[in-house]
Amino acid sequence: MIRSLLEASAENAIDYLENVHDRPVAPTPEALAALSALDGPLPEDSADAAEVIELLNRVGGPATTASTGGRYFGFVIGGTLPAALAANWLAGAWDQNAGLLAASPVAAALETISAGWLLDMLRLPATSGVGFVTGGTMANFTALAGARHALLQKAGWDVEAQGLFGAPPITVVVGNEVHVSALKALSMLGLGRERVIRVPVDGQGRMRPDQLPPLNETTLLCLQAGNVNTGAFDPAAELIARAHETGAWVHVDGAFGLWMAASPAHEELTRGYAEADSWAVDAHKWLNVPYDSGIAICRRPEHLRAAMSVNASYLVQSDQREPSHFTPEISRRARGMEIWAALRSLGRSGFVEMIERNCQQAQRFADGLRNAGFIILNDVVINQVLVSFGDADKTRRVIAAAQRDGTAWFGGTVWQGHTAMRISVSGWATTDADVDQSIEALVRIASEA
Ligand SMILES: *Cc1c(COP(=O)(O)O)cnc(C)c1O
Repeated sequence: MIRSLLEASAENAIDYLENVHDRPVAPTPEALAALSALDGPLPEDSADAAEVIELLNRVGGPATTASTGGRYFGFVIGGTLPAALAANWLAGAWDQNAGLLAASPVAAALETISAGWLLDMLRLPATSGVGFVTGGTMANFTALAGARHALLQKAGWDVEAQGLFGAPPITVVVGNEVHVSALKALSMLGLGRERVIRVPVDGQGRMRPDQLPPLNETTLLCLQAGNVNTGAFDPAAELIARAHETGAWVHVDGAFGLWMAASPAHEELTRGYAEADSWAVDAHKWLNVPYDSGIAICRRPEHLRAAMSVNASYLVQSDQREPSHFTPEISRRARGMEIWAALRSLGRSGFVEMIERNCQQAQRFADGLRNAGFIILNDVVINQVLVSFGDADKTRRVIAAAQRDGTAWFGGTVWQGHTAMRISVSGWATTDADVDQSIEALVRIASEA
């Protein structure tokens, strides 16, 4: 029974992946309308699992966005590497609770191994503390909780015990192009999304060192490795050196950009980032593992542990790394397995080859669209391209028509007052032919719009 059910599911999944390259990237209106077949009152009676899954596959599959194919360029959304997907299936079958060493020694071991590999790949201090969380937002939240702990501990305040009422103030400094998720993380930590000092940025969205406000030992400075629109990097070496002279804490939101630290060709961009105190990275973006997967890192593991650990007599303790001491959750799924499988199968060279190929493909987009007469609004430093097709209205029409067309998928943005199409190349499956086919579609659509 379970064999036939899972075999049918595997067949369906394989069929999906074998065809995902040739179907429209966005679901059709008909496919979305058909989702109503999944609705209805809560069933009173049991149903055959095979029939339930057949229904899900038949109705749900066509309504998916083909983001795991090669022509999805919206937001920053990677696909899923074959090894990571296979590990995800096993992790689901094993149903391990990765929160506690005692509940899943294998999940804990794979986290410890993956943590070491990640720090090596990202060229961060090998003794850092690492938490496996759901994504960039939670990685920012978790690492910033470590920052909050450390800054207030220095000021003689135990924030985990006493909360923020009556605590000495922390001054938070962000670039004017800070990602909304970092602000959300600050708001969830009681640090407020509006009581931050915003530092003016340059034309690529980089924080301007000459505009830095006075910093001190109660300052939390948030840098960005990879602006979500342009891909630009804050000049970390200079900013971090200045911050550390004053005793400030430096956090890096490096959701997708920090992965470039693995690439010797991009050393210039990532210089200095390893000197920060905490970092947030997404694995479900450029590492191409399944959702949901992010990584929170603090230079001193005790800061992360102080902010995140719980203790109860029934939660078994040992002197080994307890996974839940580094994350907001206790119980959670074994994401470390997928990260382990991705890193073990790619190796350093495979990973670097993948991200550098995506960067070259972003250049290919920029060159192709510029040659077709459109305007590239940013310096294409990594995998992000901003394109204008004319005035704001025309650009908006091209984006909407391209999404309907289905050859590829692109989102829109407003970059420093200019309406633009955002192109993000971050999928392992994207080929140069995918890029060329997508450029052709854009040229055709723009001439009709
Ligand atoms: C995507 C992104 C985030 C948020 O990550 P989620 O995984 O969606 O929570 C944060 N910062 C930057 C720069 C990002 O690109």
